[in-house]
Amino acid sequence: MSLTVAVVGSVDNGKSTLIGRLLSDTGQVSKDRKQKVQSYCEDSGRNYEYAFLLDALEEEQSRGITIDVAEVLWKFSGRQILFIDTPGHREFLKKMIGGASRVDGAILLLDAVIADMAPLLQQLKLLDLLGIDQKVILLNKMDLVGWDHIIWDKIKQGLESACTNIHVIPISAWHGENLTSLSAKMPWYNGPTLLQSISLFKQKQEKLDQKARFQVQDVYKSDDRLIYVGRMESGQFQQGDAVEYFPGNKKAVIKKFETYGEQKSRIVAGDSVGLILEGEGLLERGAWLYPSSEPKRFLRSVSAEIFWLDQEPLKKNEYVKIKLGTITVSALVEKIHYEWEEGTLRLIENPEHIRLMGRVSFLFDQLQAIDLFDDNEVTSRFVVCREYSVVGGGRWLSQNSEAKVFWFTGLSGAGKTTLAQELKGYLLTKGQKVCVIDGDVLRQGVSKDLGFSNEDRLENIRRGALLAKKAIEDGSIVLATFISPLKTHRDLARKII
Ligand code: GDP
Repeated sequence: MSLTVAVVGSVDNGKSTLIGRLLSDTGQVSKDRKQKVQSYCEDSGRNYEYAFLLDALEEEQSRGITIDVAEVLWKFSGRQILFIDTPGHREFLKKMIGGASRVDGAILLLDAVIADMAPLLQQLKLLDLLGIDQKVILLNKMDLVGWDHIIWDKIKQGLESACTNIHVIPISAWHGENLTSLSAKMPWYNGPTLLQSISLFKQKQEKLDQKARFQVQDVYKSDDRLIYVGRMESGQFQQGDAVEYFPGNKKAVIKKFETYGEQKSRIVAGDSVGLILEGEGLLERGAWLYPSSEPKRFLRSVSAEIFWLDQEPLKKNEYVKIKLGTITVSALVEKIHYEWEEGTLRLIENPEHIRLMGRVSFLFDQLQAIDLFDDNEVTSRFVVCREYSVVGGGRWLSQNSEAKVFWFTGLSGAGKTTLAQELKGYLLTKGQKVCVIDGDVLRQGVSKDLGFSNEDRLENIRRGALLAKKAIEDGSIVLATFISPLKTHRDLARKII
């Protein structure tokens, strides 16, 4: 089986050139095709374009040979890599969330001349949302910046502060530097090469490791038996397993798997089979089966991190359709917690709409069986539709399980507020409900009547602690910033909370 790698990057960053060069260097382009591109480039008075090698494929395609330009197979030392060249992130996402493609890893290209980090960070975030964690960044067109390491250092540092564990490889796709062997033009770079990097990518096994989930797609009757035909979406089931199902909330035991041909006593993620059950009640189309020991949650209101694909933004109080596996349910956009602004990736709280990415709470008409991201990485993903077209996707976020107060103490100007605000931003991205209660801010409002005597200081802390208590009762994490140098004052706050 081949490894599937998405090639991601803004227009003209060199995605097609990279793929063309790799194919060309490893003898996977016919002489004929190379010649054709060469003559075309010479005739039109331009430099050789490796990207046109792919366009040549396209030509073949238009003549009826079935090669999908967006998908190119590359072979090296016994392995196969299917590159998915993605012209724009919206097209790519549509493909991904429809479940049409399973992607094991991603190559992100950044143009060293322009070195615009914003789209790159946006792409990294999207990949993260899609659960693609194997990735490598290629800083391309190093020839155009004189093979200078300064730009590489800068990009590397910028990325290290934004994400962990990501490799930045300085390359020239056009010149083929640092792709399959280390470049002599950039002696300051010690590796790995692109080839070494993607050799470490593993095929995703995630679906097998997750909790067992089977969804019924159809119900057949044969010789008085009911056969539930559907798909194992994640994990595995064995004959004799005790299960429950939703809707219905009844128990059953798996008696037999009905398959064409071979007899099976076990099914795994990806298998489509018929089930024969022994137990109470009937299952309907769309029902979920799960182990009695690992039930799904039943929720009416649930929050999610989503990415948006439609031109028309997602609006607060709008009804959308959400695909939960094979069934589609209606959901109200109850709240938009925050939005990552397109381009700048600035976090905007309580916006009216989402254009690119953000966090939303949906409200269903009735209880739904939901897996949160912590429960199951596969079945916690979903697709959003308007009418019949796919307009977004996302994953269900974990509920806030641990509301608590973090008390920041320290002198005025020590950085309590800055630190708390920064932490708040981070916790928000983790789907947590969080608020900052700042002693100085209280003094401008609720505590306007107070001075700086010992009693007044204590009173300010008492008011802050009461607010904090209210907020944790409401399920929020509280970051409380109060100078609070005296232990007795902090003890009072602790007691109240
Ligand atoms: P895509 O839109 O990301 O697929 O970008 P292309 O592969 O079409 O490349 C855009 C332009 O950049 C083309 O003219 C390429 O020849 C050029 N290009 C790509 N990689 C390099 C490189 O490493 N060095 C130089 N000098 N030009 C490059």
